[in-house]
Amino acid sequence: MDAKEFWDTLKGEGCLTPRFREELIHLYGERGEKAALSLEKKMVKKYRDFMVVVGASGEYIVEGDFCTCHDFMFRGRCCWHILAVRLALLCGGVEEYDLWYQDTWAGPE
Ligand SMILES: [Zn+2]
Repeated sequence: MDAKEFWDTLKGEGCLTPRFREELIHLYGERGEKAALSLEKKMVKKYRDFMVVVGASGEYIVEGDFCTCHDFMFRGRCCWHILAVRLALLCGGVEEYDLWYQDTWAGPE
């Protein structure tokens, strides 16, 4: 299965079964594994304005094929946050927040 086939089939399935989980890790390695874990731990959040993925070292905004993390910005590759959002959207693993993510930036400083 190549990447396109994987996403197309998963779309039809709507659920990350153990078989798809294995396939994901086969295709994307460590990134696939992190994406699957974030789905299982419900680390993909949907705010009114952005999709956000919670990682070990912070939260990242994902917009389609764009992400705010270093991996994406400096290596220009599809990072695991993007994979996590895709998975969550297809498999219904998104935690929805009725809030503006921008408002959460003004934290205590
Ligand atoms: Zn990223």
